[in-house]
Amino acid sequence: MYSSEFCAVLARHPALKDFTSRVTDFLDKHLPEPLTEEAARPPWLGLRKSAAQAGLTGFDLACATVGPGDGRGPAGARDADVVVPPGLERVAQGMAMFLAGRRDCDAREIFSSGHGAMALRYGAPAVAQAVLDGVVNRGELAGVASSEPHSGSDLRGLRTVAVDHGDHLLLSGTKGLVSRVEEAVGFVVFCKVLRPEQAAGMDSDGAALREVPLSALWLPMDSVGVLAESAAPLGLRGWSLGRLHFDAVRVGKDRLLGAPGDGRRIFDAHFSGWRLMMAMVCLGAATASIEETMARTRRRSVGRMSLADIPSVACRLGTAAAEVQAATAWCFSLLERIEKDGEDIDVAACSAAKALATDTSYRAVDIALQLHGSDGYTRHTPMEKRLRDIRGLRIADGPNDTLYSVLAHSLLAATRPSPSLVAQRQA
Ligand SMILES: Cc1cc2nc3c(=O)[nH]c(=O)nc-3n(C[C@H](O)[C@H](O)[C@H](O)COP(=O)(O)OP(=O)(O)OC[C@H]3O[C@@H](n4cnc5c(N)ncnc54)[C@H](O)[C@@H]3O)c2cc1C
Repeated sequence: MYSSEFCAVLARHPALKDFTSRVTDFLDKHLPEPLTEEAARPPWLGLRKSAAQAGLTGFDLACATVGPGDGRGPAGARDADVVVPPGLERVAQGMAMFLAGRRDCDAREIFSSGHGAMALRYGAPAVAQAVLDGVVNRGELAGVASSEPHSGSDLRGLRTVAVDHGDHLLLSGTKGLVSRVEEAVGFVVFCKVLRPEQAAGMDSDGAALREVPLSALWLPMDSVGVLAESAAPLGLRGWSLGRLHFDAVRVGKDRLLGAPGDGRRIFDAHFSGWRLMMAMVCLGAATASIEETMARTRRRSVGRMSLADIPSVACRLGTAAAEVQAATAWCFSLLERIEKDGEDIDVAACSAAKALATDTSYRAVDIALQLHGSDGYTRHTPMEKRLRDIRGLRIADGPNDTLYSVLAHSLLAATRPSPSLVAQRQA
């Protein structure tokens, strides 16, 4: 693998060597080659279940973060579970995503607890245990439902409401487009919790709702009143995409994650890490594309020279490789900082790094497709699939334009105690 940045991370954290070998062995067994659109579609959910059996679905959970402060650890974790040294869980997850992306972007759901991590970290003990049993131990899938038809990028504009009736909430609204509507056993739903009299007084355009803080809850998909409706996406077709309708769904209050109003904090903490994971998937795919293209340009001759000997070809490949290396280094350095800083995450940097990494990966795969000629434009090579898949991840988990703006706003507002961008040498 040419990606020296990936190797550099491994050199910094040799304790992860065994972990990366276990992930690579799993991929070699189940997804030996990068996937093309014309190949048979792997049984993705079955692969996740196999990963659970191989102990590869819970390694991202620090024991102390399972359950809200009960320090219970992953009760029910099996002997076979792959153990990552404490403090390296996020880096390990990033490595697994990078390796998965080298085979296929849809392989992103195979490893780790995914969005189930929110229920495990912030859910009441019974919720955390149920998610641990299903999502980690049995390899089921958890989804996240934040976006709504009228408001995807704007969290304050969400209009799904959970009306508080004392011992339970009644959840109503529509989410979408969201991933995994057919496969997930449950969703972390972001919504606004209202008292009944507040709900009765809400205006129809949702203006007053903007002032209500966001909450999060765990919703099993078999709850009465949940309806899923699928849509056909351009890429990332290994997993379903669609809408979720909630028609006065009765939800126990013990399913709230954290306290009412904690939703934004949970969202930022989770998605800062998750965006970097999606970045890693794309960077893995881009790295594989560059390697495959290097090999092709050496084999392929044009006139009397190989493609690789044409300076403009080498320059384009070198540019792509440099950009991918730089983005990989930034994303891993942010994951290392998250491990150190805990909940004090640099949300703005993580947001922009996801945007940069997915844009960079898209450009790299586009060059790779070009240098594969007409072959690259068919379903016979992985390039066109990667291009469609990465295209989706430039919108999903926050559209890239919005994410760059988050960094700009943070720099402009100087919300953090800000040393100058470059430290000045003292005279
Ligand atoms: C493949 C895929 C999977 C997804 N999975 C999930 C999921 O599992 N769960 C979930 O909740 N959602 C999911 N989404 C939805 C996704 O989070 C939203 O599509 C995204 O947040 C954008 O919201 P929107 O579609 O409403 O676009 P809009 O909010 O209508 O924005 C449209 C475009 O306008 C631009 N734009 C918007 N706001 C700004 C701004 N402030 N600054 C600059 N430009 C801006 C961007 O280019 C943006 O793409 C998924 C989307 C895709 C494509």
